[in-house]
Amino acid sequence: MKLSNRLQLILDHIPVGSRLADIGSDHALLPTAAIRSGICVSAIAGEVNAGPYQAAVKQVRESGLTDTIAVRRGDGLEVLKPGEVDVITIAGMGGGLIASILDRGIDKLSGVKKLVLQPNVGEDTLRQWLLGHGWLLIDEHILEEDGKIYEVLISVPEELSESDITNQTLYQERSLDGGVILSPEWLLRLGPWLIQRPNPVFHAKWRSEIDKLNSILRSLSKSDLATAKQKSEEIKADIKYIQEVLSCLPKDKR
Ligand code: SAM
Repeated sequence: MKLSNRLQLILDHIPVGSRLADIGSDHALLPTAAIRSGICVSAIAGEVNAGPYQAAVKQVRESGLTDTIAVRRGDGLEVLKPGEVDVITIAGMGGGLIASILDRGIDKLSGVKKLVLQPNVGEDTLRQWLLGHGWLLIDEHILEEDGKIYEVLISVPEELSESDITNQTLYQERSLDGGVILSPEWLLRLGPWLIQRPNPVFHAKWRSEIDKLNSILRSLSKSDLATAKQKSEEIKADIKYIQEVLSCLPKDKR
């Protein structure tokens, strides 16, 4: 079974010997690969919807892995008992939904040593949730597959981190080589690790964001409302700032 590059990247961040929970597992491809590869000793595939849940049950049965992968139906972390897993993966949903799953299941996070999260959008909302709940972002990746751009966020409880980096230092205001100031708010949007290793996909993502903002500007220009004018000014400032950031970054770092 060949995983997508996106799921493989997530798998690569799961420590050997882990007990995994993959929430919103759909076809249970990640837990299946995690067990087959010998990376995980056990896994739980959580699914809230009937179709994906049935697909996960079928996948696990046909792979002969019913002894090591439990497929459970339920909303978010409610499928878990406290202390049951070391690593939780949640991939392929919006950052707001992932943050809400973590928030509603916060009691299930004690004992969890690592979160590997892949928001499709709303990465800043998810970074903000992690920051506000004592989870330290230790690494981030951005990749493109089949014309879509994905970010993968890896986080550990700040109290367990052996690194010198803390949430305070990670999001501390700093300036880029060209002099542009990165505020905590912009570090949450851009990604505090991604901005340090800006690969071509990072550039492509933010060029595409500029295109989206320009398209919103064109729509707003048709309105005479004062609120539309104010929103336009904010968007223009954001576009100018993103352009300045991109111009300060090396283009060929990976
Ligand atoms: N994780 C897989 C991946 O990244 O390829 C599947 C992603 S799929 C786009 C999102 C899945 O999350 C769907 O199967 C959906 O049913 C499930 N899902 C959405 N909200 C959920 C929730 N609150 N709890 C559990 N599963 C959820």
